[in-house]
Amino acid sequence: MGHIGIRDLEVYAYHGVYPEEREKGQNFLVSADLYLDTWEAEHRDDLDASIHYGIVCEHIKDYMLREKHMLIERAASEICENLMLDFPKLKKVCVKLYKPEAPIPMNFGTVFVEVCREWKDVYIAVGSNMGDKEGNIRSAIQMLSETRGIQVEKVSTLIQTEPYGYTDQDVFLNGCLQVKTWLPPEVLLKRMQEIELLLHRERKIHWGPRTIDLDMILYGEEVIHTKDLAVPHPDMTNRRFVLDPLDEIGGWVWHPTEHKTIHQLKEILEERGAKDYD
Ligand code: ATP
Ligand code: CA
Ligand code: CA
Repeated sequence: MGHIGIRDLEVYAYHGVYPEEREKGQNFLVSADLYLDTWEAEHRDDLDASIHYGIVCEHIKDYMLREKHMLIERAASEICENLMLDFPKLKKVCVKLYKPEAPIPMNFGTVFVEVCREWKDVYIAVGSNMGDKEGNIRSAIQMLSETRGIQVEKVSTLIQTEPYGYTDQDVFLNGCLQVKTWLPPEVLLKRMQEIELLLHRERKIHWGPRTIDLDMILYGEEVIHTKDLAVPHPDMTNRRFVLDPLDEIGGWVWHPTEHKTIHQLKEILEERGAKDYD
């Protein structure tokens, strides 16, 4: 991965908590670090293989003037996210926004914030066993893809499976999605839970019937253990209804604690045999 840097781009803009900052405006400086694969540009010597830094600068000025924000945190995140959306070659962006004329009644050099966004590959398992199962799953996929910072890249075949854990309920429709997202894991989980609620998910019986279940299976190769989130999903290696669809869209993907690919884990589970879905 290569890197294009822009330093101290001057933009006169109107961000600030005080009314006069939002009326009169002041000078800001923007530095940006744009991470992308530069190999082709290095060898083809062709601008189409890279990102035009002149156009990036014009875009930054445009984002800075589109809205007046109270906080430079907010203004910097708008620059970062809009760059990620407008330049699909970018894998990661860091933006520093400097406010050298900030209203501080002391001598100082400058104040700044730095904000970064990076695309991560994430796998989400989807399941439904109530109502219009396929419709519920398609709605959840649609809602994920309409979320700023989430792009749905691949959707597996949806498969019918027998209930797991609590077996006195209707059969499930299960599948897996590959998304790319810049949302941090806990923010992504919150969004998944919001979508579950919007699709009338009620939490009654553990492993019981539900209109929709969205489980975060893998978040890049990160290992996460918090009160609300365990990733990789601790039970994924025991579930054919997770490993089969996941193998279809990402058999080569690495499980960071089992130290095996998804395809290998699926084969191991198949060898373990008959206990397929219980
Ligand atoms: P299972 O996770 O064994 O498939 P479930 O999906 O039926 O069970 P839920 O009732 O949907 O369980 O979720 C219970 C809690 O699990 C959630 O409130 C959430 O905080 C937590 N959780 C932990 N790790 C994850 C994860 N990787 N994906 C989704 N939720 C998770
Ligand atoms: Ca689940
Ligand atoms: Ca769940």
